[in-house]
Formats: sequence, structure tokens, C-alpha cells
Amino acid sequence: MLNKQTIKDLDVKGKRVLLRVDFNVPQNEKGNITSDKRIVEELPTINYLIEQGAKIIICSHLGRPEGREDPKYTLKPVAERLKKLLKKPVLFNGKIVDPETKKLIKNMEEGDILLLENLRFDKGEEANSKTFAKKLASLADIFCDDAFGVMHRAHASTVGVTEFLPSCIGFLVEKEIKAFDKLTTKPKKPVLAILGGAKIKDKINLINNILNFANKVIIGGAMAYTFLSALGYEVGKSSVEEDKVAIAKMILDIAEEKNVKILLPQDHVVAQEFTFMADSIIIPTKAFKGGDIGMDIGPRTIKQYKSEISRARTIFWNGPMGVFEFKKFEKGTKEIAEAVAHSRAITIVGGGDSAAALNKFDLEKYITHISTGGGASLKYLEGHGLVGLNAINDKIEV
Ligand code: AMP
Repeated sequence: MLNKQTIKDLDVKGKRVLLRVDFNVPQNEKGNITSDKRIVEELPTINYLIEQGAKIIICSHLGRPEGREDPKYTLKPVAERLKKLLKKPVLFNGKIVDPETKKLIKNMEEGDILLLENLRFDKGEEANSKTFAKKLASLADIFCDDAFGVMHRAHASTVGVTEFLPSCIGFLVEKEIKAFDKLTTKPKKPVLAILGGAKIKDKINLINNILNFANKVIIGGAMAYTFLSALGYEVGKSSVEEDKVAIAKMILDIAEEKNVKILLPQDHVVAQEFTFMADSIIIPTKAFKGGDIGMDIGPRTIKQYKSEISRARTIFWNGPMGVFEFKKFEKGTKEIAEAVAHSRAITIVGGGDSAAALNKFDLEKYITHISTGGGASLKYLEGHGLVGLNAINDKIEV
């Protein structure tokens, strides 16, 4: 249950609201925005604040300028796009906190919007410096965090600032948290987790916690080969994290104790070289030879996984089933994405590459919730909250 203050719990009329958003938009070499999805997703919170008569001071990071002012990472194009989307002026003076910013804020009227320059131009942001957090806080009366994608990071604009201002979350963060809570708290059963991608390394705590709420876990992608190794199978030259084989075995044992079934691929599309045009054949798990590289799950596995997907009532998906960036090896990920999209279950996708796959196959509209934060969503599902969320004021019980 979400017990944090939301933007609707506070009276924002006439107040200066510091709104932390994730406008870390993709850009091409010329600096043009290639997808404004992250800006569009933020419009409900911004429009609400406009309607309520707040003075809106928006702040975000963009890329990795590493504490230096770098024109390549300016938020100016974002200010332009936001202006177009809102059909309203957006003040932008290319600074974070300086006398000019303060003057602009002093003259703001209800419903006015100011976008600060890239927070990461200041070293204090990522270092969670108290001085920088205090400076940011001095601009506003209320802090609203709507940047789900960075809520797992303790930065000045996510955690530091909450020490100096009353705080709440915006609509986007509220939507994200509610979606994930649907998965972990009294979910419709059976709950199926689909895990793929390259590394177990980053997902050990996640998998451990998934065993607390999922009934079945199906595994694909490179990750499957570390699990198959743990079971003693030869997997040729497939991508195995040798130092994680023991942990994979432990996870399999814990799953058995908890009565959670973990399914691993029974057949594979294998190649002899890791390239987009490599010749490939389909082999069962037992038939791996020295030079074989598992690039995708095979047709029998796809069939079995699809049948599990059709039986599930709640599905969580993170990570592709194969090297889906190469057309020859996209079939497993594509078919699983289609099955998830067309299932009757509540479907929750943990951002990152799975979100990219859904976008690639034009299936986004069929999914109940696609997270805007890959890293943050996985961290949240580890079960210990998020530093940025934990820092927000609790709801006041009346
Ligand atoms: P992750 O960031 O851990 O979700 O990993 C995503 C990456 O895993 C994608 O770039 C995929 O190409 C890669 N991947 C998926 N399956 C395999 C595989 N069988 N071998 C190597 N890489 C893979």
C-alpha cells in the first residue's frame, strides 16, 4: 500500500513547486530529440499543477555530463519541446541556481513554468551534496518527485532536497508504484515471471524476491546459460557468468524449497559466431558442442513458454529471450512479446530492453504497464523500496 504523500495531498495554489522529472530523452548527433515519450508522460502532473495555480520549477538530468557544463547536454531543446506540447511559454535561462534564476522565480505568476538547466552540470547533484540540495530547495516551497527512473539513486534532487522541503510524489511515480504493488501484493494468480537478458549479476536480489510472489519463472536470454551450467549442462561458448554459477544453483534450490517452478529452455538457436549474419541451427539442450553459442530460445521452448503465458493471470517480464537486436535471433523475444501482449493477464514490463522490444514490435499498447525506469523498477522489485521514495513524506492520517 502506497503510504506516501501525493501531489493531491498538498495545497499547491500560489506555491513554488520544485518538480523533479526524468527528461533524459534520447537525442541524435545533431541534438534533436528522437523520442519525446518521457516529456509526454510527465504532462498530467504538469497540467495538474498549472490547473491548481502552482508556480512550477522543473528540474531534470540529461545524459552524463559528469559535473561539468557541457552544451551537448543542455536541456534547451527539451524546454522548446515542452513549450510545444503544453502550448504555453516555458522559461529557460540555461542555469540551475543563480541570481537570475531567483529573479525569474520571484516574478513567476500562478501556472508559470520554469525549466532549470541540467542538474548534472553541478557536481553536487550526483554526490548528493547537502549544499547543492539546500540551494535547490531554496527555490521552492514544496518538492514533488516524479522522476521514477532515478528514484533508486540518492542524489541531491531525489533524496537531499527532501531534508529541506515538504515532499510528495507526482502522478507518474504514483502510477509506477501502484502497478508494481499489484504484482507483489495480492496479485491475481498464477503469477508468472519471465526473465531474460544478459546478466544474472545485476538481478540476483530481484530473482530472490520474485520467488516470494511468483508461482512460476521462465528464463531465457544469456542468463539461461548460467542456470544450465549450474545444472551441469555443456553450453559451448554461450555467454556464461562463471562466477555466478554457484549463485544460480542456490537460486534453483531456493525455488524448489519455495515450490516455485523455474523453467529453462529445452532447445536453442545456436551459431558459431556472435554476428548478425551468422548461420544458425536449432539444437536441444543436451546437444551443445564446444563452439556453439546460444543466441535465442528454440521453437519447442517458445511453444512451452507461450502455453505458460496463456495460463497466467499476472505477468512480469524483464529481459529479452535472445539477441533480439539481430533480426535472425529475434524470434524468441518477438513471440514471447506477442504472447504477453495478447494474454488476458495483468502485464507489467520492467523497462529497459523488454520495453525496447515491445516498441520494436509495435506491441506497447497491449501492455497493462510498461515501466519508465528499467533500473528503478528492478530495484523496487527487490523489495526494499527505493531511496528516493523512502525519503518522501508519509501521508498524514486524518
Ligand atoms: P540485460 O540488460 O541484462 O537485460 O540484457 C539485454 C541484452 O541481453 C540484450 O542486448 C541482448 O542482446 C542480450 N542477450 C540476450 N540473449 C543473449 C544471448 N543468448 N547471448 C548473449 N546476449 C544475449
